[in-house]
Amino acid sequence: MMQTIPMKRIDVIVPCFNEEDNVKAFYDKTKEIEGSLTDYNFNYIFVDDGSTDKTLDVIKEIAKNAVDDITVVKYISFSRNFGKEAAMYAGIKSSTGEYAVIMDADLQHPPELLCEMINKIEETGCDSVSARRVSRKGEPKIRSFFARSFYRIMNRFSRIDIADGAVDFRIMSRQMVKAIASMPETQRFSKGIFAWVGFHTEWVEFENVERAHGESKWSMWALAKYALDGFIDFADSPLKIVGLFGTFTAAGSAIYFIIEVLKTIIMGKDTPGYASLLCLILFFGGVIISMLGLIGEYIGRMYLETKGRPIYVEKESNIED
Ligand code: UDP
Ligand code: MG
Repeated sequence: MMQTIPMKRIDVIVPCFNEEDNVKAFYDKTKEIEGSLTDYNFNYIFVDDGSTDKTLDVIKEIAKNAVDDITVVKYISFSRNFGKEAAMYAGIKSSTGEYAVIMDADLQHPPELLCEMINKIEETGCDSVSARRVSRKGEPKIRSFFARSFYRIMNRFSRIDIADGAVDFRIMSRQMVKAIASMPETQRFSKGIFAWVGFHTEWVEFENVERAHGESKWSMWALAKYALDGFIDFADSPLKIVGLFGTFTAAGSAIYFIIEVLKTIIMGKDTPGYASLLCLILFFGGVIISMLGLIGEYIGRMYLETKGRPIYVEKESNIED
């Protein structure tokens, strides 16, 4: 096919875990949007994150039928479920286009928004345009509450800022993709990584959309773990707080000791306080154990990180090295 202006390539990275009912609908809907973006050439990188349903078959079917000469559908399938973070990383590593977009397969990231995002990245010359939900409509109240609190604490205590409502729907320039691909950490928290690599990010806003089929893979427990991971990965301030607490307690007890000595010298011995002593011992015992636990969290992560295990294990793929 002859082209006067070279077309820019956009790699659409789609992490999929048990999305057999969604991938085809996602692909068709995004294809439709492609029609209005004629200056671009879309490649799809579906990452099957160890699905136990027919997701991979559906993806292979899509790849086989994508016969028009400009679209390429690639896929990577993992040997088991490694998590969305690993899936996004696999896609990022395989991306070679001018731009890469990460999108969920469940149509919660409206493909219509792609036009706006592409226009924005072209017009402003920034390195990334990310989508932000302006409402959390349809989401359980308690989940929204914890999510908001997490962002507040994260932004207060870590060295990076994460926008509340930011989702992993983002278009990035090649240089940003390269920067992210070069971060080999096994415990990944992409929202933090996007902020950490820097570059200028513009935002587009959208109303929360409910998932097309199936249920969210995130339980409250999984979300809590994710929040803790994110926090520990990007903040060492809890360790500093622990240190400060220890210093203040030590200073306080030194002062208390001096007061007690003076009191004994001036007023003689008074009756010993058995209950208050017990309370103090139990209190500080508890504080010490929980602080050890916190330090343990960091050490545990260091331990896992030093093993240097790969982020995912590939089972099959149609991408040649
Ligand atoms: N996902 C994945 N691996 C997982 C969990 C989820 O690749 O272990 C994918 C999932 O298929 C979807 C996206 O990540 O495309 C977002 O997942 P989900 O809709 O469950 O999360 P939510 O939208 O509720 O945050
Ligand atoms: Mg979803």
